[in-house]
Amino acid sequence: MKKQTQRDRIFELVVQLCEQRGVRTFVLKDFYDAYLTRLEKEWPNNRHMKDKIRQQLQELRQDKILTFVDGHGRYTLSDVPNLMDEIEPEHFNAIKKLPPDKREYLIETYARDVKWKKMAHERFGFHCLCRNCRNTFLREDNTPYIEVHHIIPLCDGGEDHIENLSVLCAHHHRFAHYAQYDEREIFREQLLKRVRSLL
Ligand SMILES: [Zn+2]
Ligand SMILES: [Zn+2]
Repeated sequence: MKKQTQRDRIFELVVQLCEQRGVRTFVLKDFYDAYLTRLEKEWPNNRHMKDKIRQQLQELRQDKILTFVDGHGRYTLSDVPNLMDEIEPEHFNAIKKLPPDKREYLIETYARDVKWKKMAHERFGFHCLCRNCRNTFLREDNTPYIEVHHIIPLCDGGEDHIENLSVLCAHHHRFAHYAQYDEREIFREQLLKRVRSLL
């Protein structure tokens, strides 16, 4: 069996941390709090464990598995298709094989993660944020149907954070992902403005 490298171990722990916390975003301190003691035991020959960890995280950033977008030391796990519990298992394998930008829409729409949805709905309600759009319908449970959308995609380093979330109807959500590039960019700018005015 191939020996697990330190980098692999750090990666494994990052995924574990995100899964346990239910968010893809974390700061160095979260990682230290959770695993520093454990890693000191696992790698007794390493003196400067904090530096070691930081260095491995840096490598994961270079490989675009983690991104660092806001200048406040917040890491986002980007190149993992999604945390296992965010997705309906029957969709998981199909989604895993797609390139990141193609995965994004599917992850958002099949994602069953309640956290994003709850956050977005509390902030924005149940109406499509596209101006004047009334395109929704009631679901079985009487709540309006709406999809959660990351304005900057997770695969481009967008964060799983309220400033990057929005709610759209199914039509406008597809538009945001699949329209022609220029159209999409204009749409994204408008959406960003709209979201900022509501936060
Ligand atoms: Zn989306
Ligand atoms: Zn709409």
